[in-house]
Amino acid sequence: MILTMGEILVDILAEERGQGFLEPGRLLGPFPGGAPATFIVQAARLGARAGIISCVGDDDFGWLNVERLRRENVDVGAVRIDPDQVTASAFVRYREDGDRDFLFNLKRSAAGRIAIDGAARAMLAECAHFHIMGSSLFSFHIIDEMKKALELVRANGATISFDPNIRKEMLRIPEMRAGLEFMLGYTDIFMPSGPEILLPTDAKSERAAIDELLDLGVRMIVIKRNRKGASFYSNDDAFDVPAFPIEEADPTGAGDCFSAAFVTCLLKGMDMRRCVTYANAAGALAVSRKGGMEGIGGFAALDALIARSDLP
Ligand code: ATP
Ligand code: MG
Repeated sequence: MILTMGEILVDILAEERGQGFLEPGRLLGPFPGGAPATFIVQAARLGARAGIISCVGDDDFGWLNVERLRRENVDVGAVRIDPDQVTASAFVRYREDGDRDFLFNLKRSAAGRIAIDGAARAMLAECAHFHIMGSSLFSFHIIDEMKKALELVRANGATISFDPNIRKEMLRIPEMRAGLEFMLGYTDIFMPSGPEILLPTDAKSERAAIDELLDLGVRMIVIKRNRKGASFYSNDDAFDVPAFPIEEADPTGAGDCFSAAFVTCLLKGMDMRRCVTYANAAGALAVSRKGGMEGIGGFAALDALIARSDLP
């Protein structure tokens, strides 16, 4: 089973580019979301047995997510419903240059109460691969719970992937930095986007950072490069795969779907180039629709996109 742990939230999007939250404006959503939730839905769509450890409130935002996860065949047995907390949310706005700003309700939401309880332990016992998102390391409490999960899955011989998924809004949270460095010690597959690779290292260049991380024991590094596709590095391999041309409707979810497709294909035993190609295709489909989960495709959709393009 592929398992992840972290925030389930709703995304509420400003409709127009340049629209801020200092005055009323049209909003789209709520969309089901949260980086771990998006990741696990993509894994399930590709046929993996998939589950998530999380917590939502007993409110519409929570139920919208739980229903969606259920429909997508994600095991929600370890999603706790906390009657005393409100489901997490993220309001997203887009700058004229395409950059995004997030207004999170996370730390004091139901997601802030995620804990390794009996249901989570039962799921962790069946875990073959565990995926962590840096965005989930938003409090000391979560980091502590995450450490418990890591110890349990490591003891069972599961592999571990880590996507730092840093939002600039989150770097203000001091816990995050400490959490990032700690997580790397457990990481088999590290999946940063572009310059994020420098964050947990002392390196000044990407190549130096790659070497530092491989020396640390990370087995594979997959760098997401947005419209430029992605690159793969291990001790005995290094290659780039270009992105698929696609009309971008909303960048939310690209990295999460990319990582899920890579991990799922890897567990199916595909060769690395094929894994990265499917990951690029999943990222491209993710950005083709508004809302983090709305563009997610299964193998049929990914194969169709690959067949439409001229890429080998
Ligand atoms: P996120 O913003 O979801 O955290 P990320 O920054 O982690 O995403 P990106 O590099 O933006 O990751 O996107 C992940 C992958 O999705 C890219 O490596 C690429 O394959 C694909 N992708 C993203 N944006 C586009 C695009 N505009 N056109 C084609 N492919 C894209
Ligand atoms: Mg991006």
